Amino acid sequence: MKTCSICGNQNCPASFSKEIFLFFKCPNCGFIFVDTAHINLADYYNNPIYLHDNEGRGYVDYEADKAPMFSVYTNLLKKIQSHNLGRRLLDLGTANGYFLDVAARSGYLAEGIDLNASSVEEGRFRGRKITQGDLLSASFSPESFDVITAFDFFEHLPQDKLADNAGAIRKLLAANGTLAIITVNTASWWARIFGTKWHTWLPPEHISYFNNRNIKLFLENNKFDILEIRTIHKTFSLQYIFNFLYRYQRIFIWRWITLFLERFPALGTFALKLYLGDNMLILARKQAN
Ligand SMILES: [Zn+2]
Repeated sequence: MKTCSICGNQNCPASFSKEIFLFFKCPNCGFIFVDTAHINLADYYNNPIYLHDNEGRGYVDYEADKAPMFSVYTNLLKKIQSHNLGRRLLDLGTANGYFLDVAARSGYLAEGIDLNASSVEEGRFRGRKITQGDLLSASFSPESFDVITAFDFFEHLPQDKLADNAGAIRKLLAANGTLAIITVNTASWWARIFGTKWHTWLPPEHISYFNNRNIKLFLENNKFDILEIRTIHKTFSLQYIFNFLYRYQRIFIWRWITLFLERFPALGTFALKLYLGDNMLILARKQAN
């Protein structure tokens, strides 16, 4: 039995396993987490091939794979602006900082932070302002950002670090600052239909799994007011999708398609919007101290 860091329930049983990783589910709030006691996550994120990997881990080519997200991100920034006109933005888990360029084009003074040294180096080479390291030990000035974005970020954190990260975000946000989160939703139909076969169970990358109710509890416990929670649909390149399928299912036809698409980049970067409904967007506002 483990203790749930979201609601404090001390009797969370093991629910299922994947490879060597054991998933626990809180019977009270539904939060699902992986036991990471025996895993050194830093080793994993410092893997230099994370952004360029043809063996089905991470991203094939992060820059090309993220490009289809441009319009999704631009619309999201418009939504954030309807709540907050501040322009200082910090992007957590920014990788090589593709999103920073999108934010800059929407008028933001954007910078990012990421653990992975090689992706940070690549982003800097592309002229982006990125700090390498962990948010919890970073030396940003308090209240120096109006907006903090955490896209595909919280699922990567061990559950015992969630509250610390929320606290660090609060400290960095100016009064009434906005936190924008995109994460997977375990209460979505897609997740429920596939159960333990859901493609998002990806330890040790994904280790903390919220739903649309317990993320509200988590944010309110950490002094944020929820502005909105809704489903968000992501757009991916065909190359990303097939490489992902290969990684997940190890069926060689997906690998052959990926290799075929690499020979025809224009085709491989063709974008497909996936209406799976298993990602959620949460906009929250920092409560007054
Ligand atoms: Zn719980």
